Amino acid sequence: KVVLVTGASGFVALNVIQELAKTQHKIRATVRNANDKTKVDIVKRAAQSSKFPIEIVSADLTNADSWIEACRGADIVIHTASPFPIDSPEDPENQLYKPAIQGTKNVLNAAYITNVKRVVVTSSCASVYDFMATNTVFTEKNWNDPEKTTPYAKSKILAERAAWDFVEEKKKNGKNCFELAVINPCFVMGPSLGDSSSLGTSEKMIAGMLQGIPEKATEFHIGYCDVRDVAQAHVRAAFLPEAAGHRHIIETKWASNKQAFDILKNKYENQGFKLSTEFESTPNPNNRSDTTRMTSVLKIKPNSFENSIIDMAESLIKAEQKVFLAS
Ligand code: NDP
Repeated sequence: KVVLVTGASGFVALNVIQELAKTQHKIRATVRNANDKTKVDIVKRAAQSSKFPIEIVSADLTNADSWIEACRGADIVIHTASPFPIDSPEDPENQLYKPAIQGTKNVLNAAYITNVKRVVVTSSCASVYDFMATNTVFTEKNWNDPEKTTPYAKSKILAERAAWDFVEEKKKNGKNCFELAVINPCFVMGPSLGDSSSLGTSEKMIAGMLQGIPEKATEFHIGYCDVRDVAQAHVRAAFLPEAAGHRHIIETKWASNKQAFDILKNKYENQGFKLSTEFESTPNPNNRSDTTRMTSVLKIKPNSFENSIIDMAESLIKAEQKVFLAS
């Protein structure tokens, strides 16, 4: 089969590609500009153990036509591309909502036209969690309210809804549409396969802490998961019949950025890293997610939170040794 991965140079997508490379399937991947040698080389490296050479094509979420060519001949689409900025952008409409929501519609429409059989959409726990909730066990039935949340969370909620609506609409009209499966990862840690030119928000958080950035932070509790488990979840959801028509929360542990920091401090503080962020503690809302679908359907045995944090730090240090050491 031919599996198309969108947004291939991203943190999650590179791990999805590495996981796909272990299978017998052909990988096609999109980057915004296939002439960008740095990004193309990173994507090729992630696919190096693939049986077939990876095919890399250009496609931009804001350009509907680019997706028709990208999807042609693909059996499965894994749609990870979406803006995930570390700070809320000045122009959420153009920087977040259009690429996330219209972009998802563009990818799905192209998949439909080109007869793709299954689409796996990377949504988020941000589409699930009510961030004001306390002592709650979230399930795949929960939907965050787009009008009471951050611009990024809103972009993810509305993009995921657009995907479910797309399939529902086609079904209602008696059309033969691809099957949809959705992955809802919590905050993703674990090995980075990119380099300094491609760091996403997850990588920037750990890279920042290793350099004493920010100086002051507010403790923030959320579910965490490991990118290797997220990658496996995408690949399994692409093929397992039971995954079709469902959301899947991927969560290892409900934890905080301060707990992540403490793990780093324990391991690296005597090795020349400037682990100096000060945390203002906040109450733990003490939520978590029900991960029955992750463990029983996708059969993921999650990596531990500690391993996720250390393995992410190790991968970043390996790539950027000198940058992280305090002078
Ligand atoms: P990255 O920022 O590393 O990756 C995002 C990818 O989307 C990049 O390849 C980026 O391309 C691409 N992209 C953004 N805008 C466009 C556009 N207009 N056209 C084409 N491609 C575009 O983030 P992650 O890997 O962490 O995120 C991947 C997915 O996982 C996203 O959907 C995100 O919402 C979701 N997610 C991530 C979580 C996390 O903790 N990391 C948690 C839950 C969900 P480029 O490099 O050219 O900008």
